[in-house]
Amino acid sequence: MNNRLREKAIRDIAALPPPPVAGAPVPVADILASYAADVFTPDRLLDALTAPAAAKLLATLRDGAPLDPDVADEAAAAMRAWALERGATHYTHWFQPLTGGTAEKHDALFEPDASRRLSVKFSGRQLISSEPDASSFPSGGLRSTFEARGYTAWDPTSPAFVRRVGSTVTLCIPTAFCSYTGEALDLKTPLLRSIQALHRAVARLMEAFGAARPDARPAVSLGPEQEYFLVDRRFYLARPDLVQTGRTLFGAPPPKHQQLEDHYFGSISPRVLDFMADVERQLWRLGIPAKTRHNEVAPAQFELAPLFEDLNLAADHNLLTMEVLRQTAERHGLVCLLHEKPFAGVNGSGKHNNWSLSYGGVNLLDPGSDPRQNAIFLAVLLAVVRAVDLHADLLRAATASAGNDHRLGANEAPPAVLSVFLGDQLSDVLAQLEAGDVRPGAPTPPLSIGVDALPPLPRDATDRNRTSPFAFTGNKFEFRAPGSSQSCATPMTVLNTIVADSLSDLADAIAAFPPGADFNASLQALLRGILVRHKRILFNGNGYDPAWLEEAARRGLPNLRTVPEAVERLVAPENIALFERHGVFSAAELRSRREVRLAEYDRKIRIEARLAHRMAVTVILPVAVRQLREFDALSPSALPETFAALRDPIARRLEEAAAAARALDALLDSPSTPPATLAAAMAPLRTAVDALERLLADDRWPLPKYREMLFVH
Ligand code: ADP
Ligand code: MG
Repeated sequence: MNNRLREKAIRDIAALPPPPVAGAPVPVADILASYAADVFTPDRLLDALTAPAAAKLLATLRDGAPLDPDVADEAAAAMRAWALERGATHYTHWFQPLTGGTAEKHDALFEPDASRRLSVKFSGRQLISSEPDASSFPSGGLRSTFEARGYTAWDPTSPAFVRRVGSTVTLCIPTAFCSYTGEALDLKTPLLRSIQALHRAVARLMEAFGAARPDARPAVSLGPEQEYFLVDRRFYLARPDLVQTGRTLFGAPPPKHQQLEDHYFGSISPRVLDFMADVERQLWRLGIPAKTRHNEVAPAQFELAPLFEDLNLAADHNLLTMEVLRQTAERHGLVCLLHEKPFAGVNGSGKHNNWSLSYGGVNLLDPGSDPRQNAIFLAVLLAVVRAVDLHADLLRAATASAGNDHRLGANEAPPAVLSVFLGDQLSDVLAQLEAGDVRPGAPTPPLSIGVDALPPLPRDATDRNRTSPFAFTGNKFEFRAPGSSQSCATPMTVLNTIVADSLSDLADAIAAFPPGADFNASLQALLRGILVRHKRILFNGNGYDPAWLEEAARRGLPNLRTVPEAVERLVAPENIALFERHGVFSAAELRSRREVRLAEYDRKIRIEARLAHRMAVTVILPVAVRQLREFDALSPSALPETFAALRDPIARRLEEAAAAARALDALLDSPSTPPATLAAAMAPLRTAVDALERLLADDRWPLPKYREMLFVH
């Protein structure tokens, strides 16, 4: 039998004991008491320090002052005591290499002393920096392997935590990863730099508005919505493509998948709910504010959203969330697929990045009610609009990957063309702003900045537009293009930097208002000018409509279709200048990112193409051949027409598949075949194989089918 794994998987799943109908709930008091129990929170750290050390650390945490080494020794002692109490035996600097995931190398917290007894060893030195032998991480030419030294440096703004896996407990210290010459080898360092740049720009803008306060600080927030698929681990293990590439390279969509929209927000199956609850309890212990859970559009697709937090922390928390999802799924006999497009023909997975900025605790993207706050709101809003229009190429580059290419531009996810959705109410407000001084006699008085309060904007506008890649949703922007497996750091680094640039320009322009001029009138003219220049990026319509792509082309908006095209924008001279101006990336760091991203794209497609060829030739085509041989072994049938109707399409599809496999193999022979060519050559092979799946005897089909993976839990 060819399908023994598949058959056994179904039998085993069918035999699973039904989930308990009733059980004692985990006491809510226990859940509340254990929130952030595994986190060495800033409060815990500050409490454990002497007063002078605490004051110095606070200056680092709040104002970004350089870390005093004396503080590090005290902090290390406190952290060590806290971790040992929780049973930690090891510590690790937890960092974020350019591969996009997280990396860790564990060291014991103990070492034998002179008398050969184990004693605890973890001092300020070990806390502040470490030198993992991390020479195999991609650096895009920033260092060569023979001088591969990179070091990790403590990020005191993201608290240390302990990770529990089975009975092992490990102290994890969030760190940045740099080369000895100070170049960032990770995703966290540029993110931190971009946050600083944005803080500086917000502070300057508030000064320009005369709204600066000594006690107020800027902050950037992120709430990432994480989408994922769950499949039974037994099916996963029977699919070489899922195991090796995280997505199915073959598979015919079943007659029923998501058309009836009966999965979206449907009742959550007991097995999945059990998994989700387990994930949430772990996240809460880690101080991650998991808030929302629901079924997503595709069958077997789900979403988890936390409450928004400070951007750096939220980005770390999302990485940790992905890890907890993956590990917990295994314990439940499931596999969590974070790939952007595990299944063709049904929805893919994204990660909506909800982003906002605030000053002194006031959200600058909240329209508010008094005229001055409204003026600031409109200024910040238009600065973001301008930033997206000027740098749509960079936002696209930040989300381009082999996996995400199946979403962006496909007819289901935000298109590869960037545009900004503002909704009807806000668009009306901007129309008034634009009309401003040109129609003085108009029936509705035009908006006067600094004088009028904006009409109240309902937070939950009914005209929410799911097709927009970049949408204003009440008091935040929602960047929807990032992929489900991506670190938030990359898209957020770009967004912070381009908005910082826009806000700085705005602050400059305001500072240059002629002395004695009416501030509100000058501001009105300035904002109106920005709107007129950049309104081409505003689009409230259906982003999936092919007509929009034509319209976007007429407006001159960039449409970067492929990963290489998009990633190339990282090193365009004006973009290098932009990142250098804000101290976010050096030219060398940008070149390294370009190189790493292109190499990763090339390798991923190459692996997929090779595997597609191998699966076709060794797993699928032999089944078709055998079935044809069986047909041919039968004596001339009494029903020749019926016979031919069953046999001939198989023969034809087999020939097509074999030809496509040969063509793909020939392309794979050359290491210089561009990835786009390989991807294109995989398509006819998939078409033929998926047709065979619909024709061959079901008891022979060797791979779990979509209808099983997506529906059997
Ligand atoms: P949806 O977009 O699915 O309707 P919500 O609007 O409630 O859901 O929120 C989605 C995410 O946006 C959540 O993580 C939420 O915490 C976050 N969010 C809400 N307000 C802000 C804000 N001011 N800044 C950043 N993120 C926010
Ligand atoms: Mg949302």
